[in-house]
Amino acid sequence: MMELPRRVFVGDGILDGLGEFILDLTSEGSALFVAGPQVKRKLGSRVEDSMTSVRLEIHWYITELSDKQDALQVAKIASSKGVSVVVGLGGGNSVDVAKLGSFYGGKPFVSVPTSASHDGISSPFVSMKGLEKPYSLVARPPIGIFADIDVIANAPRRLLASGCGDLIAKITAVKDWELARDEVSEYFGKYAANLALMSAEILLDGSFNLEGRRSKEGVRELVEALVSTGVAAGIAGSSRPCSGSEHLVTHALDQIAPGKGLHGEKCGVSTILMAKLHGLDWKAIARALQSVKCPTTYSELGIPRDQVAKAILLAPSIREERYTILTREKLTFEDAIRLLDDAGVA
Ligand SMILES: [Zn+2]
Repeated sequence: MMELPRRVFVGDGILDGLGEFILDLTSEGSALFVAGPQVKRKLGSRVEDSMTSVRLEIHWYITELSDKQDALQVAKIASSKGVSVVVGLGGGNSVDVAKLGSFYGGKPFVSVPTSASHDGISSPFVSMKGLEKPYSLVARPPIGIFADIDVIANAPRRLLASGCGDLIAKITAVKDWELARDEVSEYFGKYAANLALMSAEILLDGSFNLEGRRSKEGVRELVEALVSTGVAAGIAGSSRPCSGSEHLVTHALDQIAPGKGLHGEKCGVSTILMAKLHGLDWKAIARALQSVKCPTTYSELGIPRDQVAKAILLAPSIREERYTILTREKLTFEDAIRLLDDAGVA
């Protein structure tokens, strides 16, 4: 089963056309917008104007905690108001709440990212506080993605750098998927794998840049690449092309050192580490992350070496059915410490 977005619009300064974009997807009715208080304050009136200009009614749900309760609330309001679509407007959290809420409520979902800090802007997966599993759950992918580069380019650089970390993670995710194909005969989708890999590789050729005169070009490339990796997951029908051992370590760190570092930052550093374990060119990955000012050590994220070593040991049990390099290597605590030191990421 492939589930893909029906329409993706990436452009510079397109926000005022959002109403028309949603009208094309839904043809009538009203929309429930999910946003944080800051984004609502900043973009709310422009969004409302664009919706009313095409005679679409708009309701708001303001999310503060962005947890499962929020998503259940969104589902309830979407049903009681009889909206035809739920729209996630914001960074990762509001988009995730809207995605899960629309899934619970059986409504289509449109993603309108205002930053690009992880691949959730386009993927069918959600991870948030209060869910049963410590890793991402499968919901539905957005039917539409609307990304205004002008808005996203104004997001804090730390968020965009974090998006680069989640993007580069596809290198070890695909390597782990290949390993599962070779060692435990798991289904491997070559097209989906290549698409995810190609997206990650934009960071490696030295031309990628989020700073200076051509920064908008970099932001556009990052958004397009993150959208493509979400599509790769849709084609694969699983998160395999997007999430491997580096994500398992990240999810283990979410438990062992909660609140330290952003998702993409943890993924980025863990990608260097897992690339070293895979025998890949881990130094090139570290250089690419440095060039976009994404952290390359756990200490920059405030996580001590011992805690990371514990997370590496915990990682394979986070999701036992997912075969990765960590399943095969069965590292001891001392192995993990040595690996951290050798890769220079402690
Ligand atoms: Zn991720």
